[in-house]
Amino acid sequence: MKRFAVVQLSGCAGCDVSLVNADAWVDEYKLVYMPLVVSTHDIPEVDILLITGGVRNDEDVYKLRHAVKRAQMVVAVGTCAISGGVANLGDRDEVREVFLAHHQPHLAPRLLPKCHPVDNYVSPDLYLSGCPPTPELFMAVLMEDQDFQASRIVCQECERSKLRDMRPTHLMGFQQGQVDSEICLINQGYLCIGSSTRGGCRAPCPRAGHPCVACRGPSDVFIEKDSEVWFGSIKRVFDSMTSVPSDEIEAGLRSPQLALFLFQFSDYAGDDRAARSREKMF
Ligand code: SF4
Ligand code: SF4
Repeated sequence: MKRFAVVQLSGCAGCDVSLVNADAWVDEYKLVYMPLVVSTHDIPEVDILLITGGVRNDEDVYKLRHAVKRAQMVVAVGTCAISGGVANLGDRDEVREVFLAHHQPHLAPRLLPKCHPVDNYVSPDLYLSGCPPTPELFMAVLMEDQDFQASRIVCQECERSKLRDMRPTHLMGFQQGQVDSEICLINQGYLCIGSSTRGGCRAPCPRAGHPCVACRGPSDVFIEKDSEVWFGSIKRVFDSMTSVPSDEIEAGLRSPQLALFLFQFSDYAGDDRAARSREKMF
């Protein structure tokens, strides 16, 4: 039986919960290390190591480097491991002050100036994107499922119809209005980013009436390109499908509700990191 481990760095544990929900691996794999559900003192040698969470402090760096030495294959899982995620949003000094105010400074891990993706320190064999990746995606990686088919973009997995003659003149807030269950959310004035987002999640958000916020990251076409190229493509989709003023679209796309996800794969200014190859993106 193959052995696998999950090393949890700084994150919300959503990926780990999603993995636990994908319980079919139980018959095929022996889970030997995962702080959320399995307690052992140290990480033993494993066939596959999943890394969740970003690198936020020096303890994360140590755990990460230590763990990859014991693994045959390393998979970076989810937004935090791939781009820093929610842990990267906080104001650095403020976070440090709040954190240290309630702890003995010498006992706390030393915070790094920002949260880094794990590939600033190690070289994953694969990237499993999503916030969190769905149980089906976890299963496809763990079971090396050759039959797993992912669409190029989320729109191809969303069953909503795009209409030529339904052009909104203004954007709707995410929580506003009555959502039609059949029609593309862009036609209804919602900021849905599914047209340039990597498929594979089966589009749970737009299917349920909530715009896709691109947690799976850019599709292959944009993976090795600058964020402005991705942004420009998204904007062109809205220009072609709506009559919303261009500056309103631009402001909406740069608004906080999309900021966490929209530029996750390219917003690494200052990081000394080699470009990711699309072959490694799952
Ligand atoms: S833009 Fe959004 S709602 Fe429209 S088809 Fe694509 S994923 Fe579905
Ligand atoms: S539909 Fe978009 S936001 Fe929702 S899980 Fe898929 S990629 Fe993420």
